[in-house]
Amino acid sequence: MAEVENLQKIVSHCKEYGFIFPSSEIYDNLGAVYDYGQFGVELKNNIKEYWWKSMVQMHENIVGLDSAIFMHPTVWKASGHVDSFSDPLIDNKDSKKRYRADVLLEEKIDKLKEKGEKELAKKNLSSATEEEKIKASRDYAKGVLLETEYTKAAEAADFKRYKELIEEYEIACEVSGSKNWTDVRQFNLMFGTKLGAVDEDATDLYLRPETAQGIFVNFLNVQKTGRLKIPFGIAQIGKAFRNEIVARQFIFRMREFEQMEMQFFVRPGTQKEWFEKWKQTRMNWHLALGTAQENLRFHVHEKLAHYADAAEDIQFKFPIGFKELEGIHSRGDFDLSQHQKFSGKKLQYFDSEINENYVPYVIETSIGLDRMFLRVISESLKDEVLENGETRTVLNLPPALAPIKVAILPLLKKDGLPEKAREILNHLKFVGRTFYEEKDSIGKRYRRMDALGTPYCITVDHQTLEDNTVTIRERDTMQQDRIHMDEVAKIVGAKIDMNNLLRKAVG
Ligand code: ATP
Repeated sequence: MAEVENLQKIVSHCKEYGFIFPSSEIYDNLGAVYDYGQFGVELKNNIKEYWWKSMVQMHENIVGLDSAIFMHPTVWKASGHVDSFSDPLIDNKDSKKRYRADVLLEEKIDKLKEKGEKELAKKNLSSATEEEKIKASRDYAKGVLLETEYTKAAEAADFKRYKELIEEYEIACEVSGSKNWTDVRQFNLMFGTKLGAVDEDATDLYLRPETAQGIFVNFLNVQKTGRLKIPFGIAQIGKAFRNEIVARQFIFRMREFEQMEMQFFVRPGTQKEWFEKWKQTRMNWHLALGTAQENLRFHVHEKLAHYADAAEDIQFKFPIGFKELEGIHSRGDFDLSQHQKFSGKKLQYFDSEINENYVPYVIETSIGLDRMFLRVISESLKDEVLENGETRTVLNLPPALAPIKVAILPLLKKDGLPEKAREILNHLKFVGRTFYEEKDSIGKRYRRMDALGTPYCITVDHQTLEDNTVTIRERDTMQQDRIHMDEVAKIVGAKIDMNNLLRKAVG
């Protein structure tokens, strides 16, 4: 229960403080589509910058790309999306609530195993062998058995078996509590649209469900014009669209969202090593934000796509539980070979070191920008009880990601204080995003800045007019110091520097 309340608190905070609004709200919203408000867009842009700089600027052998959302329809035949980009859906007959059958099963596996792990911890068997664990805990054993059965069913795309497993393991609807399920049906997630003015001549297109294919079809363009040598990567940030069946978790699962993807092209045979390297590099990127290690974990995919030789997720402990934040996939030569086959054009690389032509193998790192946004907000939003018993809501965002870097607050709206404050603001504009506020008591203005995650507030008072000193207040400690106004830029600039994060992320 507490988890749902938490998510609700995040949703309300995001709306109240101009981070995220439901789409077309005055027309009663559009399901699972959201708009980023004035502060949301700043935070989102800062997350993008953190990703882009750490992937592209910090790696000599990774370059960027911005490919179009519309692509030739054959791209999606080659990639397998037309035939198999679908989710297995199942409805509860009593509540009419719709679920993804795979998610129901995966959650059941996690629950059983987590319950089992707790029992094992009590018996001091947490580091026992898998066999011992299965013997010592019934729940753990059930979880492992379901995992094996589910993996078998997923590999065979046997959706009848999904339903049997849901029934055998007595999975109930969270609304009606009943186990009265429909059959499992497949539902393609791609949005279709048309290109061309006249209906009969129009070409059927899809809105891209991932940005990766734009990278694959440009592989040779980029490699040749950039004179890139393997191993090298291509990174891209862009919109993706999926007609999600179950989309009730705010920006965790949206129908229009943004991805930050990087495809790393390697020599066949070296993929294992690169997979491990990228897993670690990406985990460091997440940890550099100051997240506790226990809130992040790797999760090995229960069902591997037929072409993948390894796939793991980085999961984050969202208010709705541990869920996928980023996927790291070893995709073999599947994508490039498919495009080679469907386009009839060679997509090969000549490796002069070994004197061989080959289709490179690919390691992919793929993270949802919106999920990353949700993660950052959910770990930063806090209600703090102060010494005087009052509560303050604070968003202690990493300063480099904060939407506003510094607020300039004249103590009074008169006596030349606003003019002096604006003089300081005009100077600080060159350091980062500033905010000017002269309404309300200073205490209220501080609280509003805390709720927006602003690292520093500068207060301008009568003494400022005499000696050019201001009060600087730091968000997390709430400590206030009197300093000369010329020092502000240096202090703020040092704190909000994106390089602070990049240094930690790339070591
Ligand atoms: P899930 O299992 O949660 O549906 P997925 O495995 O289909 O995700 P990928 O296709 O690997 O996801 O996409 C890469 C990343 O894109 C995910 O890790 C996630 O962060 C993000 N993502 C995928 N679908 C959505 C969505 N509907 N809304 C927001 N982000 C998404």
